[in-house]
This record gives sequence, C-alpha cells and structure tokens, in this order.
Amino acid sequence: MGDFKHIDDPASGTPITVDSSGKLVVPDDPIIPFIEGDGTGRDIWKASSRVFDAAVDHVFGGKKKIHWFEIYAGEKALNEGKGDEAYGGWISDDTFDAIRRYRVAIKGPLTTPVGGGIRSLNVTLRQVLDLYVCYRPVYSLGEVPSPVRRPDLLNVAIFRENTEDVYAGIEWAEGSSAAKKLIAFLNDELCPSTPHTASKTIRHDSGIGIKPISVTGSKRLIRAAIQHAIEHPRTDGQQTSVTLMHKGNIMKFTEGFFRDVGYVVAREEFRNQTVSERESWILGNKERNPDLSVEDNARMIEPGFDHLSEADQTKVVGEVKLALDLWDTHGDGKWKDMVLVKDRIADSIFQQVLTRPSEYYVIACPNLNGDYISDACAAQVGGLGIAPGANMGDGMILAEATHGTAPKYADKDVINPSSLMLSGCIMFEYMGGGWEKVGAVIKEGIKKTIAQGRVTYDIHRLMAAEGKQATKVKCSEYADAIIENLRSLEL
Ligand code: NAP
Repeated sequence: MGDFKHIDDPASGTPITVDSSGKLVVPDDPIIPFIEGDGTGRDIWKASSRVFDAAVDHVFGGKKKIHWFEIYAGEKALNEGKGDEAYGGWISDDTFDAIRRYRVAIKGPLTTPVGGGIRSLNVTLRQVLDLYVCYRPVYSLGEVPSPVRRPDLLNVAIFRENTEDVYAGIEWAEGSSAAKKLIAFLNDELCPSTPHTASKTIRHDSGIGIKPISVTGSKRLIRAAIQHAIEHPRTDGQQTSVTLMHKGNIMKFTEGFFRDVGYVVAREEFRNQTVSERESWILGNKERNPDLSVEDNARMIEPGFDHLSEADQTKVVGEVKLALDLWDTHGDGKWKDMVLVKDRIADSIFQQVLTRPSEYYVIACPNLNGDYISDACAAQVGGLGIAPGANMGDGMILAEATHGTAPKYADKDVINPSSLMLSGCIMFEYMGGGWEKVGAVIKEGIKKTIAQGRVTYDIHRLMAAEGKQATKVKCSEYADAIIENLRSLEL
C-alpha cells in the first residue's frame, strides 16, 4: 500500500505530468488508469486493451509501452475491490485520486445504481474531477450501414458542457418540503400571479429542477471548442465553423446567455482567428460593393431595419461600423480563412444535421442539448456501438465508451468494442508527442476490418438487412482482425 487506501500503487511505469504551459509531458512508459466497466465492459476492455497495446507496439517498435493501472468503479468496485469495505462502495476517493494524479485515463460503461445516494457514476466522475468538456466526434467509418443515404457527409465534433445545466443534479421531488418552500418563494416573491403573469406561476404539485448556466462553465467549454476548430481546420474546402447550439428563443437567460457568452469568447479571446456570421455578412457586402454606405449595409443584414426604433437602428449601425473596423485583419476575404462562429436554435440543428450535414463542423452546446444531439448524430453514422467520447478538463482526460453496459450481452464475447477503441483514439490524440499516431493506426485498422466485412453482430445485422455480404465475428475475433490489419499498415 502506498498513496491509495484500497489499492496498491502501480507496480511499474512513470506518471504523465503537465509542464508550466499546461502541456502534457508523456514518458515512454506512461501509467494509464483504466476502469474496466460493468456488463459488456469486461468484453470490450479485454478486446480494446489488446488492440491498444498492439498499436503502440506497431507505432513505436517496442520503444514505448503503456503500463495499465486498474482502478475501480461500479459493480467491480463493490464486489472485487481490494481492501476493507470492498473499495468503499460503488466508487472511492482512490478512483478520483488516481485519475487526478495520472491525468490520462479510460473507462468502460458503468451500471447506474438504482436508488441509493449516487445518481450516476458517470456524472459523478465528470463533476468531481471537473471534466468540463464532453467531446464526441461523429464521423462515418465507411462501410457501416446507416439510416441516411450519405453518412459520409456528417463529420462533426460535439463539445458538450459537462458540469452544469439540468445535469447539475439540483432538483426536488414533488411534495417535498424543499419543493414546497421553493414554490412558495418563487410564487410569492419572484413571479406573483397577476392576470397577466398567471402562466408564470408554478403549480403547487410540481417537482422542481434548476438549470444553471454560468459564464465560467460556458466560457471554458466554448474556448475549448474554438481552440479545437483552430487546431483542426476543415480539409474539404469549406469554411471551418463553430456552431453555438441553444434554445435561447425560449430560455433566454440560460441557453440564450450561453450563445451570447460564445460570441464574447470568440471576440475577446480569438479576435484574429474568428469571424462571427453577421460580421462575415457585413464584410462580404462591402467586398461585393465597396461604395455601400453603412446604413445600406445595416439594411442588408437586418431586413426590418427601416421599421426599427431609432435606438435599435443606431445599434445595428454601430454593429456594422465595428465589423468594418476589422477591415485590415478580416476584410478582402481574409475572414474566409478564419473560424466562422455562428449560432443555431437546437430544434433546427436536429433537422439540419439530416438535411444539410456538411454545414456543421464543431458544435458547442449546453449539457442537455449535447446529450441529445450526440446520440442523434451517432445514429446517423451507424449507432452507439461505434460512437466514441471523452471527458476532458484542464490537463486531464477520461475517455469512455458512450454506450451503456448492455447487460444481456455481458461475457458472451459478442458485443462491438469499437466505441471504446475509438475513445482510446481520442485519448492517444490528446496525449500528443507522437502518440496520436497510435490513434490513427487503430482507426485505420477498424475501418479496414469493417471494409473486409468482418463485423460484430450489430453491424452484421445492419449489413444483412441491406443484403450485403459479411462475416459475423465475436468481439475477440474482431480485435484479432483489427490487430492483423493495423500491423499491415505502413507508417
Ligand atoms: P445500453 O447498455 O447502451 O444498451 C442498449 C442497446 O444498445 C443494447 O441492447 C444494444 O442493442 C445496443 N448497444 C449498446 N452498446 C453496444 C455495443 N457496444 N455494440 C453493439 N450494440 C450496442 O443501454 P441500457 O440497456 O439502457 O443501459 C444499461 C445500463 O448501462 C444501465 O445501468 C445504464 O445506466 C448504463 N449506462 C451507462 C453508460 C456509461 O457508463 N457511459 C451510458 C448509458 C447507460 P441491441 O440489443 O439492439 O443489440
């Protein structure tokens, strides 16, 4: 026993550290904690860790090696954790401390305990470790059947805020004394009923949940999204963009506020690398017609301009002037090489990822929107079994399979391990310093294996429905095929 209460320190390897600029310093023998996960977590971890080790070996020719360090959460923490009180419950401080200390970690799916004190182990991990970005890249893996005709047109990176919104877990049951107290306070003090505001009063038999959206939480999430867009520009000829997804037309002071904060971050922190959509219109109008007056430009961006109050007209004219002040850095089409920051209402995004998928690239959104849109996008390219994700904080990442424990398939060696493997790819990319090559090799190995028609039951089922020839393989056989394929890749 060393620094942890219920588990031994890692037997070998060196911790990953962070330098003074916040960059990860990854040794050749990094210690990486992992949580195997419950149910099918056992199957997918076995398969994925073999693929990870084979890819590291292939890329570094034996010069680098991961030292896996098992930590516990979920049923395994209860049943098999070492030490007194079986690891201290569903999760313990050792789990949080290990991830904090070693900075890069990966996990399989966890059972959410029903009842009891813990709402969700996944949400707890994100909140306790302040992993404020939930990063979900969604892209097509080529041959995987999809419910849409052109799944290849969707290639988005979703940045979902991970610590607040209705997920903050601040809620009270209907009839509880806290709910009653709060309802009375809100009705009496903040939104008393009048003939005109009756719709704002809260019914006495309501449950209550709180939706906090802060400057702090929004800024850091959107900052990460814009930074990602700058570092990963589009390569298909279209302008790189960050879309702020919100429902601000209804929830003005939470979702609308998130959007407003987004434009402030772009303007204040990334002025020379970004252009807002409205700035791009103003600059474009001037480029097409250099003699255009400020007022006429304002008319073009605000169709109802002539019917606005004088104060509102002055505001739009001011906006045009400010955008034109950017001429030296952004004008003459220079803005077209910058990151376009735009915003869209949540419901319209849901239809547009289907009807105009290529208009989206990086999507930054509050927690609940992100939960919905990431699963909807994943379905568009082939489903949950292949959708990767990671939770990230400052100098810390916890990669995770995005699906649940799928208990009916547990220990049957049939489940698709691609989600965890591709989440590992995100982890390797985050590590940098050459490790990103490991992720690239794994992704290629998976694509090649699927293209060969060697697929697990879920993809096989989809291929069979389309009349495509394929061989149904076990989870472990799928890993074997990927290893075989990645070893054949030229570096
Ligand atoms: P689930 O485990 O995600 O499984 C639902 C269905 O999705 C499966 O029956 C299977 O569909 C398909 N599926 C999921 N993973 C797959 C994979 N790797 N390969 C192929 N198909 C896959 O959802 P659930 O049954 O609602 O949840 C079970 C438990 O997981 C719950 O305790 C829940 O709280 C937990 N959970 C954990 C996480 C997490 O740890 N991040 C996330 C969500 C849920 P078919 O039956 O059609 O083949």
